[in-house]
Amino acid sequence: MAFLALLIALAAPVWAQDRMDRLMRDLLIFDAHVDTPRYVMDEGYQFAEQHSYYELDIPRMKKGNLGAVFFGVYVQPQDFSRDLWVQRTLECIDAFHEEVRRNSREMEVAYTAADVERIRKAGKRAALVSLEGGHLIMDSLPVLRDYFRLGVRYMTLAHFRSNNWADSMTDVAVHNGISSFGREVIGEMNRLGMIVDVSHISDKAVFDAVEASKAPVIASHSSVKAIAPIPRNMPDGVIRAIAKKGGVICINFHAGYLNQAAHDVYIGNRPARDAEIKALLDSQRSNPRRWEMVRAIQKRYYELMPKVDVKALLEHIHYVAKLVGAGHVGLGSDFDGISGMTPVGMEDVSRYPVLVKGLMDMGYSDDDIRKIMGGNLLRVMRANEAVAEK
Ligand SMILES: [Zn+2]
Repeated sequence: MAFLALLIALAAPVWAQDRMDRLMRDLLIFDAHVDTPRYVMDEGYQFAEQHSYYELDIPRMKKGNLGAVFFGVYVQPQDFSRDLWVQRTLECIDAFHEEVRRNSREMEVAYTAADVERIRKAGKRAALVSLEGGHLIMDSLPVLRDYFRLGVRYMTLAHFRSNNWADSMTDVAVHNGISSFGREVIGEMNRLGMIVDVSHISDKAVFDAVEASKAPVIASHSSVKAIAPIPRNMPDGVIRAIAKKGGVICINFHAGYLNQAAHDVYIGNRPARDAEIKALLDSQRSNPRRWEMVRAIQKRYYELMPKVDVKALLEHIHYVAKLVGAGHVGLGSDFDGISGMTPVGMEDVSRYPVLVKGLMDMGYSDDDIRKIMGGNLLRVMRANEAVAEK
């Protein structure tokens, strides 16, 4: 018996490696929220080359076996006046399409779940586009429809501020959730087949959105309040409501969202950090090195935060899986939207295999790993396409 136990112990790592290799061969890794397009637009950032900064480019996507990504487009009211919102949104969507076109041998824009699977099968990476903040439709359903025509396949109902029809989690509630016009917006999104994203919105707004939507919703980049009780994270009741509707909670990788202590340091230092960045950008308008200088400031503040290990990210995933099942959790890294505040061991898109290995070690089945790493998000996309008017 002792001999047999020894044999099993020796063979276990080989089996684990075999299983990992087998899984990685046909696994779809699908990230619900990455913010790279504004770097393409503002800084001429290129997907084709490998960088030592930011969190996504094609060489690193290949290394991490990232098969599909929702690229987020956002324009914050504190950064741009209302008359620039649509123009800036359109320019950012254009930057997304142009950058994918320039890399058409490696990437292709996907408009449907079937596109994602076809593009993946062809050995390329599927690129999708999403909008963050319902204010970007300017209270106009025609504008919403135009965004859909440009490829937008989900919209986060509100961003950091409440808008004319949806309350943000990080602002005063002005509608007690979603207004009656907000429900019309959701109805139109369902009709088009655009997924309703409930990240950033108030808990009451999530309950309203879940009730109003005919199709499953997503939280594209939100973590767990029971582990890290910070405003941007979701309480159990909200997680349950999203799951009950058939939706998926895609966990945000922001170190300050995964860990309360890291969050407190980040929030405490944020005003000083942002003031430094603003002063720099104002004074270095024509300096081609200004973005590099911004990154140096961000890095200096990041280093003041307690280190958060990738294990914390796995804990958030595990918590949701235990609470509502592995069929309702996914990945919404928020890479390139979190100012470099990544967990140790999950620094960029090349690191997704670490999560696969972590889930294997935690006892997840192949089937559940497939769901978590991307299958759930694809399922919700399909469910939204099914309710859309043909
Ligand atoms: Zn966000």
